[in-house]
Amino acid sequence: MQRIELLCTRCPRGCLLRVTATGSRVAVEGNECPVGEKHGAEEALNPRRTVSTTVRIIGARLPRLPVRTSEPVLKNRVRDVVAALKNIAVEAPVKAGQVILKNVADTGVDIIAERDMERA
Ligand code: SF4
Repeated sequence: MQRIELLCTRCPRGCLLRVTATGSRVAVEGNECPVGEKHGAEEALNPRRTVSTTVRIIGARLPRLPVRTSEPVLKNRVRDVVAALKNIAVEAPVKAGQVILKNVADTGVDIIAERDMERA
């Protein structure tokens, strides 16, 4: 049996969740709504994170383009995602939401631009 305590980050209320996991069964206490129950169960069984970082951009006024994963990836794959972006360079112009890299590190998740960047 595994017990963890964590803050629910799904809304500003920040409920303290107490999660008990026994095999694939999970019990969540301390949540004020069903969203927290789902969040606690995911964090215990299958934690995921959205990865936000920057990549090099060529031909823009700024040298780095902010990017993020289109969906959260498994927490234990975050390093692989960051490593896959280390040597990426994109060419301006770029539009917010544009896919920069498909299926990053074989996660099934894309990397997208977080903002527009015009050609300088
Ligand atoms: S459990 Fe519900 S009310 Fe509490 S922080 Fe999470 S989302 Fe907000």
